[in-house]
Amino acid sequence: MGSGQVTDWQGKNVTVAGLGVSGIPAAKMLHGLGAKVTVVNDGDDARARAQAAELEALGITVRLGDGATLPEGTELVVTAPGWKPDKPLFTAARDAGVDIWGDVELAWRLRGPDAAPWLAVTGTNGKTTTVQMLAEILKAAGLRTAAVGNIGVSLLDAVLGEEQYDVLAVELSSYQLHWAPSLRAHSAAVLNLAPDHLDWHGSMEAYAADKGRIYEGNRVACVYNVADKATEDLVREADVEEGCRAIGFTLGAPAPSQLGVVDGILVDRAFVENRQKSAQELAEVSDVNPPAPHNIANALAAAALARAFGVPPKAVRDGLRAFTPDAHRIAHVADVAGVSYVDDSKATNTHAAEASLAAYESIVWIAGGLAKGAVFEELVTKSAGHLRAAVLMGADRGLIREALARHAPEVPVVDLDRTDTGAMLAAVQEAQRLARPGDTVLLAPACASMDMFANYNQRGDAFAEAVRELGAGA
Ligand code: ADP
Repeated sequence: MGSGQVTDWQGKNVTVAGLGVSGIPAAKMLHGLGAKVTVVNDGDDARARAQAAELEALGITVRLGDGATLPEGTELVVTAPGWKPDKPLFTAARDAGVDIWGDVELAWRLRGPDAAPWLAVTGTNGKTTTVQMLAEILKAAGLRTAAVGNIGVSLLDAVLGEEQYDVLAVELSSYQLHWAPSLRAHSAAVLNLAPDHLDWHGSMEAYAADKGRIYEGNRVACVYNVADKATEDLVREADVEEGCRAIGFTLGAPAPSQLGVVDGILVDRAFVENRQKSAQELAEVSDVNPPAPHNIANALAAAALARAFGVPPKAVRDGLRAFTPDAHRIAHVADVAGVSYVDDSKATNTHAAEASLAAYESIVWIAGGLAKGAVFEELVTKSAGHLRAAVLMGADRGLIREALARHAPEVPVVDLDRTDTGAMLAAVQEAQRLARPGDTVLLAPACASMDMFANYNQRGDAFAEAVRELGAGA
């Protein structure tokens, strides 16, 4: 189907892979444009049947219980981003020379000729936060925008809906990027790169390559993390439009073509008249909520993308001030008896936990859950100096316990040997016993929550609830 916009869908045979958050709207949209749509889905449960009935009522064909076979005559496959590239359906499509698009590619191809440009963000951690900060900054500049993609408004709605936008702040996952070969952002940022989802991508190289696609064809700026060389390497490898610049962000003083921090001030040495000699003040570190180091990095990345789009310095400050983080991301719950309790339940991998452990001096760390194949050696080695003690729970707590024994034997460890929901109260009580005034009790599990909780939200809520019980008894 080439790489341009597709305007004539009449009678085109399109197979949509996967019922679900992206599949159902995609199927409806394509059907509405006149395509002959067949949805294929692995599952065949009651929910899938109900969804199928709804689509069939519109005239869309649905095949349940067979997501592997490519329907006869397919001219294009539109897949849910989570489907693994090695599925037989895709092999069959590739063998037949049929293009495979993800939800992002579909939105990109369907957008109109005057569509709003995209400022895109990916990375292992910090995507949602950065995109929300970016949207606030753009709004503060008076631009019509929304945080879209992996969060909030769906990309299809943003691209084809009634609402008019000047620019979109787009969060993209590595899966989405894998399936979005012709996406060309105005500017894009890769925040950081640590091993994650390797079972899906097959290798770290493949994961990095998919993240790196976000820079392909950028027009104005490729924003990278000076402290994470892998992100800069991706910029170097990308094929961009002439005149597109590499812009770094750093927690240190910025070199020319970078944004950074000087004496508690976020400064821009990239989008200024004379970057050799001058820098522009954007905001204060205290304007960033919370002002933890990794979050300041997120703010700098958001500021870089906004500045690449021509936003004035004052809007960066106003936008950052207007931003409030989503729940369970370094959320301060309460102070009890001089100890601060912080919920970073969203720290579901070691890279995220490392960032939040670096944000406090003396921590009683509550951790554990499902490790998803992670190793904890590096996390423990780097964080040991901040740990007063650790309280462990969950299915894979033994891995963290062993890493602590090897690399930080001086840190006292309480092993709760529990995976029930009630373990959280016991963990918080143990943490209270171990903490000294001035310490932070930090829930940063470095693991997924599904062994004990429905999701990370419920885990964070259980923590907050337990802290409130402590407070009531204090
Ligand atoms: P994502 O959308 O990439 O999952 P979020 O903004 O939701 O990212 O943050 C997820 C978690 O990652 C946070 O709870 C925090 O612990 C951690 N985090 C956020 N920003 C960063 C960063 N720049 N570097 C490392 N960890 C981060």
